[in-house]
Amino acid sequence: MDVLWAPWRMKYIEYAKVRKDSSECFICDAVRAENLEEHLVLYKDSFTVLLMNKFPYNTGHLLLAPSRHVADFSQLTREELLSLAELLRKSLALLKLALSPDGFNVGVNLGRVAGAGLETHLHVHIVPRWNGDTNFMPVISNTKVIPEALKDTYRRLMEHVHVLKGP
Ligand SMILES: [Zn+2]
Repeated sequence: MDVLWAPWRMKYIEYAKVRKDSSECFICDAVRAENLEEHLVLYKDSFTVLLMNKFPYNTGHLLLAPSRHVADFSQLTREELLSLAELLRKSLALLKLALSPDGFNVGVNLGRVAGAGLETHLHVHIVPRWNGDTNFMPVISNTKVIPEALKDTYRRLMEHVHVLKGP
């Protein structure tokens, strides 16, 4: 494993430990958040929330989740499913506009064995990809430099946030 200065990963490890010892949920925190920027929340409505991953695998790594604390697709209502799908479509449009990626990985980890850091609140990972960015999620032993600070990316995305609010 390459050793590289990657403080966000260390933070993640510490964070995961803390989370394990409590019943708190960072997605529910985001749903309740009044200060959107502090929680890196890009959008929320009654059914869904969209936030940036604080421990990204790439610039612009977003998390899309139902507002309700449910673990699985089987627990979602039809409205929640539809809202998730619509917000996914808009999220991809937002990322295209703001960051011009060459492609995306969109995926869900269900269960710890599948790599879920937070098992109890369903969330969809949206990871923009650029030609030449060789690392990818399953290869988590690899390291990667995130070229932009999270807050900078947040502001870049928020400049185009109207995309999420349109039809
Ligand atoms: Zn939750």
